Formats: sequence, C-alpha cells, structure tokens
Amino acid sequence: MSVPGTENAAAQQANGQQPAPPDSDDDILVRIENVKKYFPIKSVGFTRRTVGQVHAVDDVSLTIPRGRTLGLVGETGCGKSTLARCVAGLIPITSGSITFDGQKISGLSRRAMQPFRREIQMIFQDPYGSLNPRQRVGSIIGEPFAIHNMASGNDRKKRVQELMERVGLNPEHFNRFPAEFSGGQRQRIGVARALAVRPKLIICDEPVSALDVSIQAQVLNLLADLQDEFGLSYLFIAHDLEVVRHVSHAVAVMYLGRIAEAGPKDPVYDHPRHPYTAALLSAAPAADPRTAAQRQRIILVGDVPSPIDPPSGCRFHPRCPKAQDLCQHEDPPLEVKPGDPVTHQAACHFPVQDGEDLATAGSATSAAGSRESA
Ligand code: SF4
Repeated sequence: MSVPGTENAAAQQANGQQPAPPDSDDDILVRIENVKKYFPIKSVGFTRRTVGQVHAVDDVSLTIPRGRTLGLVGETGCGKSTLARCVAGLIPITSGSITFDGQKISGLSRRAMQPFRREIQMIFQDPYGSLNPRQRVGSIIGEPFAIHNMASGNDRKKRVQELMERVGLNPEHFNRFPAEFSGGQRQRIGVARALAVRPKLIICDEPVSALDVSIQAQVLNLLADLQDEFGLSYLFIAHDLEVVRHVSHAVAVMYLGRIAEAGPKDPVYDHPRHPYTAALLSAAPAADPRTAAQRQRIILVGDVPSPIDPPSGCRFHPRCPKAQDLCQHEDPPLEVKPGDPVTHQAACHFPVQDGEDLATAGSATSAAGSRESA
C-alpha cells in the first residue's frame, strides 16, 4: 500500500530511506488521494446559514490493490464508514480525488457513475436490517441483475440459484423470506447479492460484527474463498482488530478523520508506531492466552474530541500518553519511520519503540490529568 504525495517521498529521503516505488496503476484498483468529506452544520431558523462543518474525513490518501484486502479500523465515528460511502459513490467528496480501475470517479454525475456502481458493491453490517423483510430471497439476490439489465426470467432464476449454492444457501429456498433464515444465512444472502453482478470491489462495512463468533468465521472464510475464486478486492471496515488481521493484507488505522498508521498487516500489528494503534492493540482480545497475559493494557484518557472542532497539531494529543509540546502545534505527517519498511507509515512525532511501556506512561499522564482537574 502506498500513500502518494511528494511530501511523503521527501520525508522518506530525509530519513535516509528510499521512497516507496510508485505503485503501478495496473496493480491498483482504487486510489484515494487527499480526500476530504465535510458535512455542513446549518443554523436553525429561516436563513439556514452554514455555521460549522463536521470534518468526517480529512485529507486521506490510500490505495487498494487488485485482489487484496485493505482493512480499515478505528473507533466508532472516526470516519471509516463515511470514507467507504465516498468510495462507493454514495456521497460526494468535498475535495481530493478517487480513481477506480484507472478512471476518476469522484465528481461524476449519477448517470456517469452508473457503470461503476456495478463494479463496486457493498455488504452491510446488519443482516437483519439490510434486507427487505417483504421481499423473497430470490428477488433480493436477483435485483442487481434487473437494475443492470443483465438477466431476466428463467435465466435470472438460474443465476440466482447458482449464487445461492455458491455462498452455501439451499437454492430450493429461493422463495423464502429473510425472516426464515438465521443471521449467518442472511449475511450470506447479502454476499450473494453483492456478488451477483461480478464486481471488482466489495466494500464490507462491519460485515460480521452482528454475528455470533462461530458464524463470523464461516462468513470470513466464505469471503476469503470468493476473493481467491473471483480475484475480488475488499475494503474491509471493522473495529475488531483480530477480525481485520485475519482477513486483511494491509491495514489502515483511522482516528478523527485522519490516517494514524498504515501498512502491511504484520509490521503494523507486530511493531505499531502510533500510540493510538498500540492502544487499540493492547485492548484487543488475543487468541493466544500467553500473548493475552503479556499484554499491558494502555488506557487512553478522555473522550474522542469533536470532529466539528478537531484539536490543533496532532489530533490525538489530548489523549496520547506520549504527547509533548510539539504535538499540540505541529500536525505530524504520515511517513515512514527509521528502520521500518517503506510501506509502513505512521503520523507521529515520537513514534512508539519496540518494547516501550506505554501503559505506565498512560497511567502517569492519567494521574497528572486527574491532579490537574482536581
Ligand atoms: Fe502522541 Fe505526539 Fe505522536 Fe500525536 S504526535 S501520537 S500526540 S506522540
């Protein structure tokens, strides 16, 4: 994964490292460049003036390679779902650009966007709420064929039943309603529907967080099998870091509308450089009991600041156990840190060192904060 921009390349050279080679456009399916998405806040009353803006996504650059999965993690409200909706073309961006399969799709009219809607499909979090309860399953899965004029009549029915079989549903249940299926089966209906028009990209927005753990694994394995079979790319959004690690090739961590850290999953998980990533990882349940026992939980102080008026400098500084004066004034660029692979980048003036005890630093900061507030 790369984050384009000359500043980044210059910073890498300043670090004595070779800049990351530019990704070939042949390898990249989605290129997100300096994307901002602000929502205006209107005054009440007759004039309805714009009195502020929610900075939901603020200068984000990412790439999604073909046939790979980019995991996007962060707390609720960090902007990850808004970014996904921008990529899907469901909402316009404020500035920046989004390129899909070599063509710029940001700023297109609804009509011009139509061919790309077929190529970009979504799977939603709630398998209960995302399906029309009064529509039969065959009709739900077959709807994209109708929207894109791809199949009708018996041909559509045959293709829908093939899809049902492929995702592990009984094709004979074609005429049933969603309420007659379990949660995991309903999510399979969502997967079949997304797959119907053979997209290149599927945006999975918290696709398993509403499911039991045992069912989660089945759906994740299905997504992995389909990626191998059809060469799909996924933008996989979740707040569960272990789920993201399981499915992703690369990971981006979002905080308050910005990318805090990004890179291939192993360097990010094994050597987090941003204190926020380290804190998220310290709170994630570990499958290995020895790893869980060794983990020191980093407690973050305070709440996530408002995206209407984000903090100056580093947006994480009010909660960061490593914050110093510089952090309050200077926004850290997303860049490669010394010794890291050129694809691993973090936005931090004082990156975490391997073995550094942030749990103690966090409690010291917390104690100092308590004293100050007292
Ligand atoms: Fe913490 Fe400063 Fe790094 Fe921001 S720049 S994450 S406040 S150490």
